Amino acid sequence: MRGWLLGFVAMLASCTTMETPVAKPQWTLLIHGGAGVMRRAEMTPEMDAAYRAGLNDALEAGSKVLASGGQALDAVEAAVRVLEDNPNFNAGRGAVLTREGVAELDASIMDGRDRRAGAVAQVRTVRNPIRAARHVMEQSGRVMFAGPEVDKMAAAAGLEIVPPEYFITPRRKEQLARAMAGAVTPMDRYGTVGAVAMDSQGNLASATSTGGMNAKPPGRVGDSPIIGAGTYADNASCAVSATGDGEYFIRVSVARMICARVAMQGMSAEAAAQATLDEVKALGGTGGVIVLSHDGSTALSMNTEGMFRGHADATGKREVGIYVDD
Ligand code: ASP
Repeated sequence: MRGWLLGFVAMLASCTTMETPVAKPQWTLLIHGGAGVMRRAEMTPEMDAAYRAGLNDALEAGSKVLASGGQALDAVEAAVRVLEDNPNFNAGRGAVLTREGVAELDASIMDGRDRRAGAVAQVRTVRNPIRAARHVMEQSGRVMFAGPEVDKMAAAAGLEIVPPEYFITPRRKEQLARAMAGAVTPMDRYGTVGAVAMDSQGNLASATSTGGMNAKPPGRVGDSPIIGAGTYADNASCAVSATGDGEYFIRVSVARMICARVAMQGMSAEAAAQATLDEVKALGGTGGVIVLSHDGSTALSMNTEGMFRGHADATGKREVGIYVDD
């Protein structure tokens, strides 16, 4: 009788301390449209609405792929293409310009199933640089190409080619002029785009695309096309896409470092993102990351005043945000 009673008490105790496992949604998609100084006071209602609509369009494109049982890789490419085509974001059309007034675009993509990766830098005529990155991953047997060879390779592969002026918008010309006159406003600095996804098979993928930094010197390449810095995906740990001061993100190997913390220290997406962004901050860098862990945990983290971001999943969740307290 006594043994039975003790057993019963032990069972009750274990029930109260048992953690309820968080159910992984069947699929998840996170996106970002760049981190930086975003102030409600400086954002007009029209701009605010246009950014939110752009983020929703990207969530829609990626979610459509995932909801119909498609692959994470196709979903991140679809979401990033929509953001590249939207002139409000710093990628594809509407990218920031080099000191010489040219758009030099960088992009990368990674498949968490086998860690295949593709990256391109200094693209000048490919409408969707993320497609060129995927082409490199799937067709070249290499990981990264830079400069005019990328444009030639993309044209030969039948990707859509546009004149360099296609990417240039009046707003970016004004931002460049301000930078050249030494009168940059805080809101002039943000906009890289990215996506991470987990599909219904549990596979992870990640993609990032950017015009880099406003008024960058020609030839400068940031973290976005660097596998392990701006982009990383591995089914055994996590998928990451980053945005921020590229030089610092490269020096900290941000994307790989977050995944290493998840895999080796068992950290949640949020904890790993925070620890790594703290390292960036300690060196003097700012920015943000989106992280999707193999355990389903997610993070949309920043050490800035805001980050254009969105989250959609199979439970019907669909949220977009701009400011840090959104
Ligand atoms: N990380 C990008 C770069 O350094 C810029 C950004 O995310 O805003 O090229």
